[in-house]
Amino acid sequence: MSAAAQNITPSPDAQSFLNREHRLLIGGQWVTSASRESIDVFNPATEGHLAKVAAGGKDDIDRAVSAARKAFRGEWSKLTAYERTRLIWKLADELEANLALASELEVLDNGMPLMLAQYSIASFGCEFLRYYAGWATKITGDTIPVSPTGVRNGESLTYTRREPIGVVGAIIPWNAPLIMATLKLGPALAAGCTVVLKPAEQTPLTALFLGELIKRVGFPDGVINIVPGYGETAGAALAAHPDVDKIAFTGSTEVGKKIVAAAMGNLKRVTLELGGKSPMVVFPDADLSRVIPGVTRGAFFLQGQNCMAGTRLFVHQDIFDKVVAQVGDLAGKFRIGPGMSPDSDLGPLISAEQRDRVMGYVASGKQSGAELVCGGEVLPGRGFFVKPTLFSKTNMDMQIAREEIFGPVLCAQSFGDGELQAVADEANKGIYGLSGSVWTRDISVAHRMAAMIDAGQVSINCHAAVDPAIPFGGNKQSGWGREFGREGLDPYLKTKATTVVY
Ligand code: NAP
Ligand code: MG
Repeated sequence: MSAAAQNITPSPDAQSFLNREHRLLIGGQWVTSASRESIDVFNPATEGHLAKVAAGGKDDIDRAVSAARKAFRGEWSKLTAYERTRLIWKLADELEANLALASELEVLDNGMPLMLAQYSIASFGCEFLRYYAGWATKITGDTIPVSPTGVRNGESLTYTRREPIGVVGAIIPWNAPLIMATLKLGPALAAGCTVVLKPAEQTPLTALFLGELIKRVGFPDGVINIVPGYGETAGAALAAHPDVDKIAFTGSTEVGKKIVAAAMGNLKRVTLELGGKSPMVVFPDADLSRVIPGVTRGAFFLQGQNCMAGTRLFVHQDIFDKVVAQVGDLAGKFRIGPGMSPDSDLGPLISAEQRDRVMGYVASGKQSGAELVCGGEVLPGRGFFVKPTLFSKTNMDMQIAREEIFGPVLCAQSFGDGELQAVADEANKGIYGLSGSVWTRDISVAHRMAAMIDAGQVSINCHAAVDPAIPFGGNKQSGWGREFGREGLDPYLKTKATTVVY
């Protein structure tokens, strides 16, 4: 196919949104950036210009943080938990009601296939908001039977309150922009915090669209502020801001370390969802009719621009050649093209820079002696398309097997009979520990191996199972803390213990 040949015109609604002047949402108003600078936004499938978006800088972050602080002290803190629930739920409903436009904007901006955008926004983004809407009314403390010094038993009472942490700075990446925004907003709003959200420079459009919905839903002014801008300016200013109480960051491990350094000034809390290089371990008894589609999708979902992507395939030597051949075969059949085309299974990478980075890794893989099974090429013409690429005979001394590529590159290596721990040790090599999967019909091997994999979440006979209720986050340099589920609320709350002596 020729990706570039299919130039799909945006719908009138999308075009009308793109044509708008895109400002910053601060204190409930759409405002221009102090510097008047802007970011040009491009469609990665066509390389065409989509929109111009105001670029926030330090001054705008200052304004947004003070609006968030004012809202936190003001009307927002006076709402009941039921009212917060209703507002978050209403935002989910509003997003669902605008699913077609939200998904189209996501595809134009990010490149992902339309079906995937629709499915993920509806079944994950909206449900994630609803999941946390439900939590707002279930945040409770404890009563604790204590006897403080000098007080007789039964003559005092201690109770804890779980209070919102305050103003949250949320900094998100470009790989699933709208979902990422909902992941940060859900628990923050449920807990009663206010937010300054900085979307990625490459993909600010759906965050701004969400801003329109937020205004329609009727959140008090300043509860959610949206400031697109560059990481080095807007992002860094938010991370370092002395009046921000917590940063919720999703992005690369490299930038995660900068966030930690910037947060030191006021010792703000930090949660980090960072990179990954997740193993998929296939035992010889596994059901190949599930393994082949499962690991192939696990590797190439979102063109591999997915932190949980299974990018290292460990297969038992008895079935290694067969599995590698079948995965290569299936990967070669994926249809690559613009996300707006219903025929596309995979879209483009986000940018020319990302394409070149991925192709640099492909060259490194070839040089280091890995065997190229399929892919390894860009598609000619416009758009940043790279064919799904599978390298066999890789090992952890190779750069392609060690480093996060964040593109459609899968590395396969075999393992033999012997101790499970030896397989786990190989799978656990490297600095990341985000995700992993085990493929076998033997429940004993499955659970032992799952326990041995050093990662925040492991799936058995599937890869990267996600649900708003499943705690999500990374070990080692894949992150700090957990999002999702009950644990995902904790970073947005602080405990106060109150003791009364009768
Ligand atoms: P990135 O370069 O780390 O950027 C992430 C966000 O941080 C962007 O908004 C970026 O701004 C901003 N930023 C950059 N420098 C900054 C600084 N000095 N201070 C504050 N903010 C700064 O990551 P990316 O390339 O967008 O995304 C890919 C990475 O995200 C991969 O490593 C992937 O594994 C990771 N990721 C992790 C998860 C997870 O949940 N664990 C999920 C998705 C992605 P710009 O707008 O200027 O880029
Ligand atoms: Mg960047």
